[in-house]
Formats: sequence, structure tokens, C-alpha cells
Amino acid sequence: MANVFLVGAGPGDPGMLTLRAKEIIETCDIMIYDYLANADFLKWCKPDCEILYVGKKGGDHTLPQDKINDLIVEKARSGLVVCRLKGGDPYVFGRGGEEGEELVEAGIDFEVVPGITAGVAAAAYAGIPVTHRDFTTSVCFITGHEDPTKAESGNNWEVYGRSNSTLVFYMGVGNLPMIAQNLMENGRPADTPVALVRWGTRCNQTSFVSDLEHVAEEAQARNWKAPSIIIVGGVCSLHDKLGWFEKKPLLGQGVVVTRAREQASGLVNVLRSHGACVHEFPTISVEPLADYNEVETAILQLARYQWVVFTSVNGVKFFWEQLREIGLDARIFGGMQIAAIGPATADELRARGIEPDFIPEKYVAEHVVEGLLKRGIQGSDVLIPRAKVAREVLPRELKEAGCNVTVLPVYETRLVQADGDEIMTALGAGKIRYVTFTSSSTVENFFELVPADVFKNYPDVKIASIGPVTSETVKRFGFTPALEPEDYTIPGLVDALIKDATGE
Ligand code: SAH
Repeated sequence: MANVFLVGAGPGDPGMLTLRAKEIIETCDIMIYDYLANADFLKWCKPDCEILYVGKKGGDHTLPQDKINDLIVEKARSGLVVCRLKGGDPYVFGRGGEEGEELVEAGIDFEVVPGITAGVAAAAYAGIPVTHRDFTTSVCFITGHEDPTKAESGNNWEVYGRSNSTLVFYMGVGNLPMIAQNLMENGRPADTPVALVRWGTRCNQTSFVSDLEHVAEEAQARNWKAPSIIIVGGVCSLHDKLGWFEKKPLLGQGVVVTRAREQASGLVNVLRSHGACVHEFPTISVEPLADYNEVETAILQLARYQWVVFTSVNGVKFFWEQLREIGLDARIFGGMQIAAIGPATADELRARGIEPDFIPEKYVAEHVVEGLLKRGIQGSDVLIPRAKVAREVLPRELKEAGCNVTVLPVYETRLVQADGDEIMTALGAGKIRYVTFTSSSTVENFFELVPADVFKNYPDVKIASIGPVTSETVKRFGFTPALEPEDYTIPGLVDALIKDATGE
């Protein structure tokens, strides 16, 4: 079996990577990657994978192509699994063909994993089907940046000028005036639609449609930059009608997610699906306790309690882990009453075969107590499995209502030992529009990493807080949340962001 793979990383949206490409990224020993391949993919590499960046941004090559070829051959000879990751498709203007030839000449077997090429993907994300029966019967992929050492253009402008093909130019922004001129001189009408799509499929995608006569001027006025594809042909007129990606409500909005990495993926994925540019900045991490003796004892004496109140998804997860350790399962709850403080916690219980007896209408401790009292919790023995450090409101109020409360820490949250450099750079570059907080501890730890004195220099950055308790903590640091959903949940928070961003 081959140990070298020329792999296409697709156009940038992580969802546009093929399953085969992901498999190779996850298993390779050596990763050699380019500028355009989304660097987020590297997090899937094994911890001991050797990761080599060989660059290529415009003309400034980190390593010249012949050195890249040598490097691939040298690494391939080690017999280790080498992933050569390239933006889009490796054989579409990616010089993958040359790298393949070198490997064959060196007697090394390799495989190719095609990728979704930018010309097709960026066009589709801009609402442009590269072929359409009403407009054209063919599509050409053309380099807009020819080998500068060639004496004559390899592009047959006469043919492109005469045909009705959709023309997709890669690397063409610098030569746009020449491209438009050549096409018009060779017979393409001056009013032929032309689309430019920059950073296609990514949260910072932008595009516009013009025509051959005006496109160069308009690109200059907009200070248009690479990486961008240029699409020429009648199909571009469908951009307004079929465009969908750039209509996403949070497109291009920089949103910081401060939740623990273990918990963030739900929020991160929903924000991305709405087009946001998400900056993951976990301020806390969720950790197991050093010692579970107390939890074990509590589980073995569970029959003492009439109520068990779960206040978080993690509370459920860590409690169940210990149940399993002891060899027990959901049957231990028998006729007990179970409460879940929010919908996500309730789902976590349902996944384990338990339908909570009580879920409050509003998800803050104060409302939980009110609801529980209506359910007749007074005087009961109540167990609350939760984080080591948490708010005292719930246990205190239940005690006041005459309950016999046992608080059982089952996990702890810790401040992530990170530095705030990356976020401060993004703040400084004006890339952040919202910072989201989903608990008081995310607020406290955020300001530990990004001092309040620094943060106050960015008054345009809006704070989105999940609920009143978190908002109180934000105020303690001298800031006022611009957003707080009516429904104190993650979906509520996302809705509030969308409302704010769209001004609805
Ligand atoms: N192998 C790649 C192309 C590499 S050439 C592929 O198949 O997509 C680099 C050129 O690709 C850039 O100059 C730009 O024209 C285009 N390109 C790559 N990614 C792009 C993106 N996300 N949006 C727009 N153009 C892109």
C-alpha cells in the first residue's frame, strides 16, 4: 500500500473536506501543507505527527517548488505515512501533477485524494452554478497567472472569446484588466456578467457581480484582493437569485466562545452554521476530581434521598461515570424524583433512560426552587451532584424551605492556562464583534486572561451573556452585557446574537 497521499483540503469550509482526506489527516505521521489549506484541519493530526508548512502565498514561496518536491520524496523514503495537503483539489492548479511525477521518478507509490476545487465550490457558495442549460454547455478552468517565463500566452483567448463556456479563472486578480480586455477583444460581449468570489466558502466570503467592461474598475475601487476566483459567463447572472451563503445572519461576524472546549462544540457549530467567524477561546476546562470516595459513598446510600437535582450536563456525565464504575445503572434511582435545571441537562438524562420529573420554565436557580416547592419538595432529602465550586443559591433556598440538602461535587472547572494573545490580536485587528459568556466562571476567567483594562479599549465589542446571573458577574468587572436572551439557554443566546446582528 502506498504511504504517500496527495490530498485535497477543499476550499476552506471544514465541511468541504472529504471523508478520505480526514482519515489520512488523522493517521499520517508527516503532514506537509500549503497556505490555502484550512489550518484548522491540523488539530486532527496525531499528537506526534510532524507538521511542516511549505507556504505559497501569491509569489512569496516559503519553499520553492523543487525544494518541496525534494522534501516530499525525502519524507516518503522514510516509509512513514506522508500527507501532502493542498488547498482545493491537488491536481487543479496545485502543482500536484509535478509532485506526482517526482514521486514516480523516485519509485515511490502514492495515492491521490481529490478535493472540491475552489472554482466549483466558491461559485456554488456565491449562487453560481458553473453550468446551466439556459446559459452554457461547458466550463473551463483557466489560470489567470501564467508561468512568467513563458514567451507567449498559453491561453487561447480566441477560443475563450468565441465560446459560450463558463470561464473560471484562478489566481487572476492581478491580471483582471488584461483578462477582461482579451475576452472582449476576442468577441465576448462587454456586458457579459463576471463574478469575483473572495475567500469562497469561508465565514469571510465576499463577492460581487459586474460585467466585462466594468469589472476591473470595480475590483480596483473595492481594493479587491486574492485569493479570489473570477467567473465569466451568463451563469453569473443567477448570483442574486441563487445566492444563499452570504445571506446567513451572522456571516463574517467575529464571535468569541469562552466555554470549556469539551462543551463548546454545540455552540461553535450552530454559530458557524449561521455564518459566524468563531474564535474558540476556552477559559475554563472541565476536570474530574482527584478523589471519588465521597461520590461513591453517596451513590451507595442513594436510597436515602427523595430528590436528585442535576444542575448541568457535566453533573450528569460525571455522576454516571461513577455509577458505571461501581457497576450500577439508572435503575438505582428507582422511585426517586429527578430534576434537571435546563433543557440540555434534561436531554442528557433522557439519553440515559431517565425522563426528569421536573424541568423549570426559566433556567436560573431562583426559579428552580419555586418550581420544586410547587412539586412538594419541602422537607425532602435532596442530593445535588454538581461542580466543586458553584453558586449557593439553590442549596441555600432549598435548605430554607426545610429540605435536607447534600451538595455532592462530581467534577471541577479550572482556569485554562492559556494566554490571551490570540484574542487580543483579533480584538486589535477589529475582528471581534461579540464575546459570549455562558457562566460566571467563563466571565471571571476571561478577564483573568484579557484584563478589563485592555478590554475596555474596545467599546464596540458587544458582550452576550446567557442569563442574569452571568450578567451580574459581567457588571462586577465594569461592563454591561449588550445582549441577554429571554430564554437562558444556548439556543436562546444564538437567537439573541442573530437578532442583534440583523437588527430585527
Ligand atoms: N488547488 C486549488 C487551487 C490552487 S491555486 C483548488 O483546486 O482550488 C490558488 C487559487 O485558487 C487562488 O489564487 C484563488 O484563485 C483560488 N482559490 C483557492 N481557494 C479559494 C477560495 N476559498 N476562494 C476563492 N478562490 C480560491
